[in-house]
Amino acid sequence: MLERNEIEMAEPAPARILVVEDEPKVAEALGAGLRDAGFAIDVAHDGEEGFFLAASESFDAIVLDRVLPGRDGLSILAALRRKGVLVPVLVLTALDGVDERVAGLEAGADDYLAKPFAFPELVARLKALLRRGRGDNLLQLAVADLRIAVARREVTRADRLIELTPREYELLEYLVRHRGQIVSREMLARDVWKETQRGTPLDNVIDVHVTRLRKKIDQGFEPRLIHTVRGVGFLLGPQGDGA
Ligand code: CA
Repeated sequence: MLERNEIEMAEPAPARILVVEDEPKVAEALGAGLRDAGFAIDVAHDGEEGFFLAASESFDAIVLDRVLPGRDGLSILAALRRKGVLVPVLVLTALDGVDERVAGLEAGADDYLAKPFAFPELVARLKALLRRGRGDNLLQLAVADLRIAVARREVTRADRLIELTPREYELLEYLVRHRGQIVSREMLARDVWKETQRGTPLDNVIDVHVTRLRKKIDQGFEPRLIHTVRGVGFLLGPQGDGA
């Protein structure tokens, strides 16, 4: 069995920013301007693409347009927060006013800028967000009081550090990324153990690891997060949480 041993270090490289903006000209200008300001930029042109990238890749911050076709920026933001993605988000909007700001903050925005804005102000605000978030929020996943700092592979529950073996960590991260869904032993064999052929011995190994992980994650904490779905697999989430 291969043990994936990735060494992920805090990179001194440029901060990686995701820009979610549907208007091509604005997206292009934002991307070019932020690159000039020294950031590494990915651009998503609609909400679905933006959500997918933000949920699956590691960014230092997100610049999120409020009004997007199909899926509104704030609903994307709220969904990311529910998923436990805590990356700093700056919301851009043509709408200004107290209600608008409150809605943005309630959806989980860290900052807010009304269009039209002066570009240096965007850069200054982004830098402020990065100073706050750098090193901490590179990618954090959260379920109830469980927190995973993905870059550091560090797990805490109720602010207590939990020591996991590399395999237990990978198993937990996988379950958290599939929170609220039933994860079968086939999925774990394929995606965590990287074994295409699944057999009874591997099933037993998986069960042993889940049992150990559950002890570390759930013993002495409320609510229980790792559940066995008899005959099917496992499910991570606070009870009744389907998100
Ligand atoms: Ca727009």
